[in-house]
Amino acid sequence: MIPPELPDNEANRLKALESYELLDTLPESDYDDIVRIASLICDTPISLVTLIDKDRQYFKARKGLDVNETPREFAFCAHAINKPNELLIVPDSRQDLRFMDNPLVSNDPHVVFYAGVPLVNEDGHALGTLCVIDHKPRELTREQEASLKSLGKQVMNVMSLRKKNRLLEESQRKTEQYGKDMEAFAYSASHDLKEPLRNIKAFMQLLERNYANQLDDKAQKYIHFSIESANKMETLMRDLLDYYKSDNDMEPATLVDPSKLIKEILVLHQDQIAKKNVNITVGKLPQISITAAALRQVFYNIISNALKYHNEGSTPEITIEAKELDQYWEFSVSDNGIGIAQAYLNKIFDIFTRLHSYTQYKGTGIGLAICRRIIKKHGGEIWATSENEVGSTFYFTLPK
Ligand code: ADP
Repeated sequence: MIPPELPDNEANRLKALESYELLDTLPESDYDDIVRIASLICDTPISLVTLIDKDRQYFKARKGLDVNETPREFAFCAHAINKPNELLIVPDSRQDLRFMDNPLVSNDPHVVFYAGVPLVNEDGHALGTLCVIDHKPRELTREQEASLKSLGKQVMNVMSLRKKNRLLEESQRKTEQYGKDMEAFAYSASHDLKEPLRNIKAFMQLLERNYANQLDDKAQKYIHFSIESANKMETLMRDLLDYYKSDNDMEPATLVDPSKLIKEILVLHQDQIAKKNVNITVGKLPQISITAAALRQVFYNIISNALKYHNEGSTPEITIEAKELDQYWEFSVSDNGIGIAQAYLNKIFDIFTRLHSYTQYKGTGIGLAICRRIIKKHGGEIWATSENEVGSTFYFTLPK
C-alpha cells in the first residue's frame, strides 16, 4: 500500500474545507439524492460524497455504506484529490500497488473497483470527491464517466450555494443587530440627555431673568442664542424619541375615528389657523382599526407641515379626504403651499432630510420619517405628489 501524499498548500485546502461548515453535519437530501443517482447511473452498490479532513475522510452523503468516516491514510479519495482535474479510476484495487494491502480492500467494505471525481472549489482546492465503489473489478463507459463528472460539479454547486446563503444570512443578521443596537443607543442617548439639557436651559433662563441688569447687550444676546439652541435640541430629542417609539405601539389597536383626531390636532394649531386665516376642508373619513396615538402622529405631522410650508401672503387651503380602494383606505392631505421639487419627493421621508434652513422654516426632518415608519408598520404605503409654488398632496394607505 502507498499512503496518499498531501496536496500542495494543504493548510489552505483545509481552511477552505472548514469554510463550508459541512464536516460532522446531519444528512441533507440534496447530497443524498446525488449519491443515489450516481450509484444508479454507474450501477455500483456504493456511492459517497467524501470530504478529506486532516486525518480522516468524512462522508457527507453515503449510499451502501454504514460508517461516517474512515482514516485518511486508507482513503482512495485522498489519492484522487491530488489530481484535481482528473477522474481517478481503479479498475481492480487488488492489482494496484497503491491499494493492494489496504484494509478497506481486504476487509469491509471490500473496495475493488473505485471511480472518484474531485470536488474542486473556485480557488482550485480539491475538498473531497464524489465516488462510486464496487466489490468486483469494473470499468465505466464514457457516458458513465461523463455523468459522474457532471454530478461532481453539481455537488460542488450545492456546496457553494449553501455557503453563499449562509454568509448572506449571517451578514443580514449582523446588519439587523447593528440597526437594533444603533436604535437602542439613539433612544437611550436622547432619553438620558433630556434632563441635563432641561437644566442648562433653566439655568440660562435664570441668568437672563435675574442678572439682566448686570450684563451688557452682547452677553444678553449670547444667553438668548444659548436658550434658542437648547430649545432646538429639545425639539430634536423629542422628535427622535417619537421616531424610535413609533415602531412600538404602546396601546392596543381600537376603532378610531380620524375626524376626531383631526379636530384635536386643529385645536393645537388654532392660533396659527386663526392668524393665517387658514381654510380647512375635511371630507367624510372612515373609521380605522389602529392605535389612536399612531394615527394621530401621522395626521399631526402632515397637517403641521401643510400649515408650516406656506408662503406669507396667500391664504393656506388644506383639504383632507379619504378614498375607498379594494383592500385599503387611501387618505390624502392637500395644501396650496410652497411645493416640493420632484427630485425630493421620495427623499423627504428619510430621517433628517430637510429642504430648507432652520431659520427659513423650523423643523428637525424627522416628522415624515415617523409617518413612514408608522404607515409601513401598519401595512400601508405613504407618498407625496407636488408642484412647485402650487402645492403638495400627501397620501397614505391603511388596510381596511
Ligand atoms: P420637518 O418639517 O421637521 O423639517 P419633515 O420630516 O416633516 O421634517 O419634512 C421633511 C421635509 O419635507 C421638510 O423639511 C420640508 O422641506 C419638506 N416638506 C414636508 N412637508 C411639506 C409640505 N407640505 N410642503 C412643502 N414641503 C414639505
